[in-house]
Amino acid sequence: MRIAQRIQKVPPYLFAEIDKKKEAAIEKGVDIINLGIGDPDQPTPAHIINQLAESARDPKTHDYPPYEGTKEFRSAVSDWYLKRFGVNLNPQKEVISLIGSKEGIAHVFLAFIDPGDISLIPDPAYPVYKTGTLFANGEPYYMPLLEENGYLPDLDKIDEKIARKAKLIFLNYPNNPTGAIANKEYFKEVVDFAKKYDLLICHDFAYSELAFDGYQAPSFLEIDGARDVCLEFHSLSKTYNMTGWRIGFAVGSSEAVSALSIIKTNVDSGIFKAIQEAGITALSGPQDHIPRLINMYTERRNVVVDGLNQLGWNIKPPKATFYVWVPTPNRMNAIDFSNHILDKTGIIVTPGIGYGQHGEGYVRIALTVDVPRLKEAINRLKKAEIFNNNKV
Ligand SMILES: *Cc1c(COP(=O)(O)O)cnc(C)c1O
Repeated sequence: MRIAQRIQKVPPYLFAEIDKKKEAAIEKGVDIINLGIGDPDQPTPAHIINQLAESARDPKTHDYPPYEGTKEFRSAVSDWYLKRFGVNLNPQKEVISLIGSKEGIAHVFLAFIDPGDISLIPDPAYPVYKTGTLFANGEPYYMPLLEENGYLPDLDKIDEKIARKAKLIFLNYPNNPTGAIANKEYFKEVVDFAKKYDLLICHDFAYSELAFDGYQAPSFLEIDGARDVCLEFHSLSKTYNMTGWRIGFAVGSSEAVSALSIIKTNVDSGIFKAIQEAGITALSGPQDHIPRLINMYTERRNVVVDGLNQLGWNIKPPKATFYVWVPTPNRMNAIDFSNHILDKTGIIVTPGIGYGQHGEGYVRIALTVDVPRLKEAINRLKKAEIFNNNKV
């Protein structure tokens, strides 16, 4: 058989060595602390599970759902948007359900990128922006996220010719993997840039609710004129601890929603209605678990940031997401450093290079394990003198 070129374009899997080491360590009985997982460790709130159980028993949920999401789910999304951001969306035209936001993110490229078209994507970033572009036979153009720019792409550095060839620009704030945030002034710049070059702004907003110290992440759609040029991707995964349920949504430009829905109509058949009903309960039911979740991640963040800073590091506590982005000692190779940590301490971290070239020299620590384990991790790092520049 002859496998398509596009499969060969998929970047090599960078974590193979770490995975092998992890398996070997587990076999040897090492007590692994896995700080590599971007998956909440807490259960879905009980009232959402109860809704699924009840809805699943109702035969009316058993047939094919509407492709774009049930009316009720899309209305719950627009109600949530109004409450959370003061943005009034038309649930019929400006909202579409997704089988997890990853699904919509992967498919939006098919709706906007023809062979040879450019997509402007951040580096480092969630890998799907790149593979989605490649699957559409487009060309990714990488916008470096640099510490000195607060991990925001410098739009002035994008060549005019590139910008003109581009069809869309992808952004993600609060950001995975850097934990960075963006303000409305920056979003306004992006909107002006998108209008100048006739681009779609795709904003991955998976961490919209996981913000600390009183910070509230803005939506792109709060910016004047953005709703005509922006598609914002949301997920129930991180906010409601529902990663396994596969439910998310995109909102914004009706033209973009309708283009994406043409792809989806031909690829999938929507989300199980009972899950959509549970999604409605998540969005419109009690939200009191969210402040608890935020407190929990804040405490974990503080343990990790304070712990590393006591070891001589100089990390600013991230204002959002459940990640801490940590420079390697003397910016050493991130894969070597991650392997070294695993060998010496049994701790798994993610090498930043897995998110793009500009992730080199960093590792990502996920706050998805509890405080006692995080304290244990810090102790092990201290004992092994891992973050002591001269000894790595
Ligand atoms: C977790 C995550 C997603 C995917 O979320 P799903 O809705 O579960 O598909 C998308 N983007 C980023 C940056 C993420 O970290």
